[in-house]
Amino acid sequence: MPDASPSSEGLTEELRARIVAAGPVTVADYMAAANAHYYATRDPLGLAGDFVTAPEISQMFGELVGAALADAWARAGCPADAIFAELGPGRGTLAADALRVMRRAGFAGHVHFVETSPALREAQAKAVPGAHFHDNIEALPPRPLLLVANEFFDALPVDQWVGDEQRRIAHDGTRFAFTVDGPIRETSPARDAAAAALAAHLARHGGAAIIIDYGYAGGETGDTLQAVRGHAFADVLDRPGEADLTAHVDFLALGKAASACVVSRVVSQGSWLETLGIGPRASALAARNPEQTQAIAAARRRLCDEAEMGRLFKIIALRHPDWPAIAGLEP
Ligand code: SAH
Repeated sequence: MPDASPSSEGLTEELRARIVAAGPVTVADYMAAANAHYYATRDPLGLAGDFVTAPEISQMFGELVGAALADAWARAGCPADAIFAELGPGRGTLAADALRVMRRAGFAGHVHFVETSPALREAQAKAVPGAHFHDNIEALPPRPLLLVANEFFDALPVDQWVGDEQRRIAHDGTRFAFTVDGPIRETSPARDAAAAALAAHLARHGGAAIIIDYGYAGGETGDTLQAVRGHAFADVLDRPGEADLTAHVDFLALGKAASACVVSRVVSQGSWLETLGIGPRASALAARNPEQTQAIAAARRRLCDEAEMGRLFKIIALRHPDWPAIAGLEP
């Protein structure tokens, strides 16, 4: 999709004026302002955009997520009041693929999306007609959830710290610059709040959630903030609002913030998809589309191989204590 946004100069000027008036901004404030502009003004996904996500690589990804959610729903006794929900659904591709499988399994519940970008809401409404939209997790209806979030948490703002000093972003009249350098530690009150809100909903109303993102499970530290534009890394401080800003997800912190419900172990994307049967699914797809055999095998490798997305991307599940564990994420 062509970039229909006004230039990001407005945002750069707004941030500069804010810094002149009130001093350097936190990394989280900068990231929040940049990403709000970025997502509101374009569809960033796909070859013509800035980055490609797992559901855009192959339908197998959303289908296996849908199979895992449908299985949990069936083992929970097929509650008729459960809804399908997604956080940051992008183009709606994952939801459309997952729902195809879930409908076949008898799930007839409504669809609810948490999405702030008007441009992406439009694409999502086309992919999944009848979907309901919300600005935040707290606004989801009081029903059991079958929820998925892929590459949602990585886009939420992080703060950075050097020792006890919070790293901020200043402006020297020409360009943005960090106020301090050194060994960096990251925290994310925004992610903690989203995870806590999701866990509170699950604990109160039931259901299960699958969270997929790139990140670490062992409490590593370091600077993981990155900018991606046109499928290449860019300077985080150059033209805010014109690149996708993300940071690795700390799954340990996410699990802690979600302690109101049952939190699964963390599994790598590659091993989870293999456990769920991406092999047989790839074979079945290739049998029906022999001319796509190579492409299907390549997509599986991209999603599962350790050197590709297989190890960096990880899965964690949250659930109400009376709901069954998501397949492949049992304790
Ligand atoms: N899940 C999709 C898209 C990932 S991109 C996929 O896998 O292809 C991140 C998504 O999160 C986009 O849809 C973006 O608009 C949305 N998003 C980012 N920050 C958000 C916020 N604070 N609240 C709601 N949605 C947000």
